[in-house]
Amino acid sequence: MRVLISDLIDEKGIELIKNVGEVDYLPNIPKAELLEKIKDYDVLVVRSGTKVTEDVVDRGINLKMIARVGVGVDNVDVDAATRRGIVVINSPDASSISVAEHSIGLMLALARKIVQSNISLKKGKWDRRRFMGTELHGKILGIIGLGRIGSQVAIRSKAFGMKVIAYDPYISEAVTREMDVELVDLETLLKTSDVISIHVPLTNNTRDMIDEKALKMMKKTALLINCARGGMVNEKALYKALKEGWIAGAALDVFSIEPPQDNPLLTLENLISTPHLGASTEEAQKSAAVEIANEIISFANNKPLHSVVNMPIMDTETLKRLEPYLPLSEKLGNLAIQLTKGRVVEVNVTYCGDLSEIDQLTLLTSSCLKGVLNQIIIEPVNVINAPVISKKRGIKVIEGKTEIADGFKTLIRLILRTEESHSIEVAGTRDLIGMAKLIEIDGYSMDIPLEGILLFVKIEDRPGMIGRVGTILGSHAINIAAMQVGRKEKGGIMLMANVLDHDVTKEVLTVLESADGIIEATPARI
Ligand code: NAD
Repeated sequence: MRVLISDLIDEKGIELIKNVGEVDYLPNIPKAELLEKIKDYDVLVVRSGTKVTEDVVDRGINLKMIARVGVGVDNVDVDAATRRGIVVINSPDASSISVAEHSIGLMLALARKIVQSNISLKKGKWDRRRFMGTELHGKILGIIGLGRIGSQVAIRSKAFGMKVIAYDPYISEAVTREMDVELVDLETLLKTSDVISIHVPLTNNTRDMIDEKALKMMKKTALLINCARGGMVNEKALYKALKEGWIAGAALDVFSIEPPQDNPLLTLENLISTPHLGASTEEAQKSAAVEIANEIISFANNKPLHSVVNMPIMDTETLKRLEPYLPLSEKLGNLAIQLTKGRVVEVNVTYCGDLSEIDQLTLLTSSCLKGVLNQIIIEPVNVINAPVISKKRGIKVIEGKTEIADGFKTLIRLILRTEESHSIEVAGTRDLIGMAKLIEIDGYSMDIPLEGILLFVKIEDRPGMIGRVGTILGSHAINIAAMQVGRKEKGGIMLMANVLDHDVTKEVLTVLESADGIIEATPARI
């Protein structure tokens, strides 16, 4: 096996790869030379420097794997690689410890005002009273998102004698019990924590998660740390909170725009910050190279891979039949997870009508799992790794078939169950032009495209209710592009599905849900 490493990577990784292949280490190789040489290699290893564009992929006639040392694969044309059957891998675990340590560093720096006192001392001052700090011992740490990094922060904070609570609706209590972390709801976490540390992925659900309302719930002495992604904390709201003393201090490693431009937060003394340094350690870089090397060794030995970003397409008849339904099953998974609450314990997919004639439907189920998981975890989920990740998270997957398709040629029906005994059932089909359509939701018949900004509103079945929803949305400048109403019985509860031109804010949802006759409003973005 011939391996080309075209960016600087840690020596340890290179040594390991040499056990299974002949390695050429040519960091910073010019693009023209890369294009000329790539045909001779089976594996290409890059960091973020090499741009693995479509022409590189196409000229790599012997390429079987592209390995990205690090997390983001935005410098690799994954689609081109997938089309050519080339496996793309990355190293998502490597930086967890470094980011966790950075979060702890910021926590200590905030509690003891290390940054501010350092600046003051260097200005020639000896101001000991002004920089009185607080101990972490005995304090409550609230972790939002108890994944790879959040759990490492939890372990380390316990050594300081902190009590750790966490909000993560997708993690099981068994896992948190083992870590001696108490799972709580978000409001409890915000109200009771002395220090709050954010470790969730940036998704539609987590964007602006820490807004004015959330900041106002926190203790006046609370310290907030964000080493995750910028969009999670609303920066305007945080500025107000720090300026007006709603909370005592904050530390940011990440910003909504990086590098921050004229960001007023940077003028505040009770805000300390670092330029996205969470993963910037020698060890994280080394461990990324080792993680990738181990995957290449597994690949050479035909063993299963753990961090595959794509799936090589095999040109089989079955694949041709399944391919048109991949977006539908993914969208159904994506919608269902947004409409339910709590940790998912079961994904039950039934293939109805013509689809039931196909023997091998696992690919469609994996696509559905991809839709579910991509909303809740940061690592790139694809049809290859979705079943592995689901298993790791304790999600039971059930696949069924039936010829009965309720009058449709084909139908996919999905039931998502969560720990809190919530469940949601959605069913969808492809229309004549191939568009994915939602045709049923929890027993309510529908007919809306599975696309764009959706809003599901449960209303009492009485005169004026549909107009009331429309008026509220209209008064907030939200345009309804399409609308469908389903009901199970006259005078009961109706479900109104709206396709919108504009996003619905938390404020609009509150207005809707407090209006007479409106029971629940749930947004989703597909
Ligand atoms: P992860 O996928 O292992 O964990 C994320 C956790 O968040 C999961 O347990 C998931 O269940 C939970 N979660 C998802 N949606 C949630 C919600 N709405 N509310 C509460 N919990 C929710 O991810 P990770 O590797 O631990 O990364 C965490 C964050 O750190 C990500 O935002 C990532 O981009 C960021 N990160 C930052 C740096 C840096 O340099 N500062 C480096 C690496 C990663």
